[in-house]
Amino acid sequence: MAMSVLDIVLEKAKEQNATKITEITLEIGELLFLNPEQFHFCMELVTEHTMAEGTQINITVKPSKVKCKKCGKELRWDQSPDDHFVFPVLECECGCKDLEITEGRELNIVSIKIERP
Ligand SMILES: [Zn+2]
Repeated sequence: MAMSVLDIVLEKAKEQNATKITEITLEIGELLFLNPEQFHFCMELVTEHTMAEGTQINITVKPSKVKCKKCGKELRWDQSPDDHFVFPVLECECGCKDLEITEGRELNIVSIKIERP
């Protein structure tokens, strides 16, 4: 996953005639269940020997959204107090269990800072 992010980042940087990438800001959906610190580490690894080597990497986790297909109410995925995810049987207040995940599964490249010649 870090590799594919890097590919996109490098491509965008090349389009801009960048010589170096100085900062990458990413947003990861919490339902991807990626540990931000681990992902940060992966990004550092894959950027080695590229123009993004040593870049500042910012990662924020985006909360999920789950929507009830019946009444349209938006819910949030539960999180246990120790910050580990639990997989509850999600049920809307209206009793409907037919829920759709609308946010939390995406990985967005928010911004890239580059240096030009
Ligand atoms: Zn509902």
